[in-house]
Order: sequence, then structure tokens, then C-alpha cells
Amino acid sequence: MDSLRLDELTSEEVSNLLMGSGKRYGLILPVGCTEQHGPELPLGCDTAIARGAAQNVAKALMEHPVYGAVVMPDFPYAPSPGAEEVSGTVSVSFSWMGDGLCEILASAIKTPWQYVAIVNAHAHNHGRVIEASIAGSQGRLGRKLPIVALNVYDYNCHAQEVGLNSGQHAGEFEIALYEYYVGSVKYVDGKKQGDVRRERPPRIFGLDIIPRSRMGVISDPPPDTARALKQSKELGLLVDNAIIGDIVSNLDIYFSQWMQQ
Ligand SMILES: [Zn+2]
Repeated sequence: MDSLRLDELTSEEVSNLLMGSGKRYGLILPVGCTEQHGPELPLGCDTAIARGAAQNVAKALMEHPVYGAVVMPDFPYAPSPGAEEVSGTVSVSFSWMGDGLCEILASAIKTPWQYVAIVNAHAHNHGRVIEASIAGSQGRLGRKLPIVALNVYDYNCHAQEVGLNSGQHAGEFEIALYEYYVGSVKYVDGKKQGDVRRERPPRIFGLDIIPRSRMGVISDPPPDTARALKQSKELGLLVDNAIIGDIVSNLDIYFSQWMQQ
């Protein structure tokens, strides 16, 4: 089998994989959004980060004695409250996103995969991803199985370790990770932009964000792109290893202590 992508495998290859190996095979679903990401990054930034991380996890698990993984086609539509009016953004409701996630997984697990891992890179999906994980472990998606919920932004503590200012949205953390997984980040000198910034009330959502910050970036302070690009590989390796470690340790606990119940 040459590919670890579900959309590149045949049904027969999937059957052989699940029946032929002694390993526990699961699906990894990359989840992102289609949302403005400032002048440096494309609208599919989060989706590309989730996909890149999922592919690296699947590749690393090839060497693992117990677990293996195949990457699903990614899920790129999500709620983006506050960015709906910015050019290119495609924002859907929280309920549509959550229902879609559960429906996709309910169908996918009719094939006897032994676990699912959701790699989510868009913060507004958080609650829906957790709900899907609960539905999986309670058997509400058709059968009981562990769904590991991994949110890439939970690993932004590693940005500080490599000397970056994480910045939540379109900040140095995302610039560095996009460069690591995809490459071709546009270099923008933030200090030269000089457009008017309006303070954003942090607990009021749905505001048009173009006027309040440079071209939609809501990272504050604005990212130092050069610094993020320089540290991208170091950060990417740390994040990959952390995600792989969390998948394996969560599955180990589930299969050793919870599965019998
Ligand atoms: Zn993002």
C-alpha cells in the first residue's frame, strides 16, 4: 500500500489493511475552516495545517507496533463568527458543522476501523469536536469506538519554546505551522502596513473585522513573519511529536482500561 490517504485507496486495499495486519487501524479526520487569515496566509490555512499534521501522524504511525492510521479527506467548512463579511470567508452554523461531522463519522465507521482521531485546527469547532468524541464513546454514531479529539491550537505553548509569540488567529504560531506543512507563506512586513486598528471587545462576536485590524488579522501584537518562518521547522517537529504522543497515550488508556466495560 503506497498511500495513507483514504481517497487514494481502493475498497479492497482498505479491507486487506483491516483484516491482514495485527495492528489497530484508525481514521484521522483533518478539520479546518475557510476563513480569512490576514495578508500572509490563505483562507484554507487551518485546513492545510490539520491535513499536514494528520499526514505526518499517519506516516509516523507506520513504524508503531500497535496503531496505524489512514487520513480521511478533510472537512473544510466551519463557523467563523466575526469573519463572515471578509472576502473569501465561507462560514456555516455551529449546528450544521456539528451535525455534518457526526454524520460523516457515523458513515465512515461502518467500516470496522478501531478508532478515529480528529485533528482540528480551527478554534470555533472546539465544542462540536468534543461532542463528536462523546457520541463515539457512547455508541451514538452506530457503534462504540474511541474518538480522540486533538486541537492543534492547544499546542501553541510550543511557540514560546522556540521564541515565538503565538497570537491566536493568523499569528506567528499559524504562520510557522503553515510554512512547515505547506510552505510558500507570503512575506509581509507588518510594521509597514500602518492601517487603522480598532480595539475588539473580546466578548462580543460578529463584528466586521476588516476595519479593526490590518486586513483581517486579529493576532495582537501583529506577527513577526520573518521570525515565524525561521522557527517553522523547529515548531512543526515539536507539534507533530506532541500530537502523535497524545494519540498513542489516549488510545493506550482507552484500550487497556475502558474497552472491556
Ligand atoms: Zn487559523
